[in-house]
Amino acid sequence: MRHWAEMSADERTAAVEEYGLPAFRAKQISRHYFNRYEVDPRTWTDLPAVERAKICDLFPPLLTKVAQLSTDQGSTLKSLYRLDDASLVECVLMRYQRSQHADLGTETQEQVTGSMRSTLCVSSQVGCGIGCPFCATGQAGLTRNLSAAEILEQVRLAILAISRGELPGPRGTLNNVVFMGMGEPLANYKAVMTAILGICSPSPDGFGISARGITVSTAGIVPRIIDLAQEGLPLTLAVSLHAPDDELRDELVPLNKRWKVREVLDAAAQYFHITGRRVSIEYAMMRDINDQPWRADLLAQELIKRGRGWVHVNLIPLNPTPGSKWTASRKRDREEFIARLEAARIPTTLRDTRGQDIDGACGQLAGVHERII
Ligand code: SAH
Ligand code: SF4
Repeated sequence: MRHWAEMSADERTAAVEEYGLPAFRAKQISRHYFNRYEVDPRTWTDLPAVERAKICDLFPPLLTKVAQLSTDQGSTLKSLYRLDDASLVECVLMRYQRSQHADLGTETQEQVTGSMRSTLCVSSQVGCGIGCPFCATGQAGLTRNLSAAEILEQVRLAILAISRGELPGPRGTLNNVVFMGMGEPLANYKAVMTAILGICSPSPDGFGISARGITVSTAGIVPRIIDLAQEGLPLTLAVSLHAPDDELRDELVPLNKRWKVREVLDAAAQYFHITGRRVSIEYAMMRDINDQPWRADLLAQELIKRGRGWVHVNLIPLNPTPGSKWTASRKRDREEFIARLEAARIPTTLRDTRGQDIDGACGQLAGVHERII
């Protein structure tokens, strides 16, 4: 049985009719899910009791919270969920002062009200098949794709946490959703696109979060980058480059053996030309591995070759994972790297290390939990 959240409008109408409910109930049910974040039809007293009982099957429980950790004075909340097959996935909810927002690489051009923004980092797969050696998720391999509903449930639970005041500060709302948790979103394209539509469709068919606030991060599945560009949505694309040369990138991002730096950057530039959305190049800085001045120069050169104004670089201090031989760059190497990109007039930001003390990076909470249990 498919979950209500991942059905199209037509499928929802068909589903209610199948249960013998009038078609107009579809919008009413969607309002419960997407406007009020409710999943228990037994409590929906605006529907006749007999109808309520019938539609419970459309809302199977998908995510069970098994751990929650908070840090940064409570403004970062990491949740670990168990799925119905006992797999574990995680997501991280972060609150930012508006002024810090540009450092995230997820900025939007829209005007926002209030001084706090909330960003949710969601998972798209259990594990990941790409196998980047510095990434905790990559070490575990791929277990399975998440369904669109499992992704949307991460979003719904985050909105609920915000509305219940589980994060400090004014209550506010969820502004950004970034696909930077576990998994390679473009390897689970169909479910991710269905989830994105649920996130950004206006009420009552979706959560109504601006598409400009949604970032899809990829290790570089070139044909899917082009597909994403053609969806007609102003999504933000982040490309995890980590090295400007094939020799090193083959090692850091094994997918590079299939699509080379040149092809990945060409696709990224094309994404900008089709959508008008500036692409974010993610670069996790690893000591003496990819942080040499000559690599900064080569990176700048590769980007400028494809034009100006289409891209910015988001440097991420590596969060060392257990068993990894790599560690974060020295401050002076990082500063030199930034200086060289800036000298080449490449807009550059340094991502903050939010949530590091709760294993904030990609896939690490699930890893820790597996070691404990
Ligand atoms: N699979 C996608 C999205 C999930 S990973 C991708 O690779 O883009 C999200 C980001 O976290 C990527 O840029 C990834 O390279 C980065 N990342 C993974 N492990 C990390 C670590 N140990 N320290 C810092 N960044 C890491
Ligand atoms: Fe997968 Fe991204 Fe981790 Fe690489 S960095 S293993 S692509 S989740």
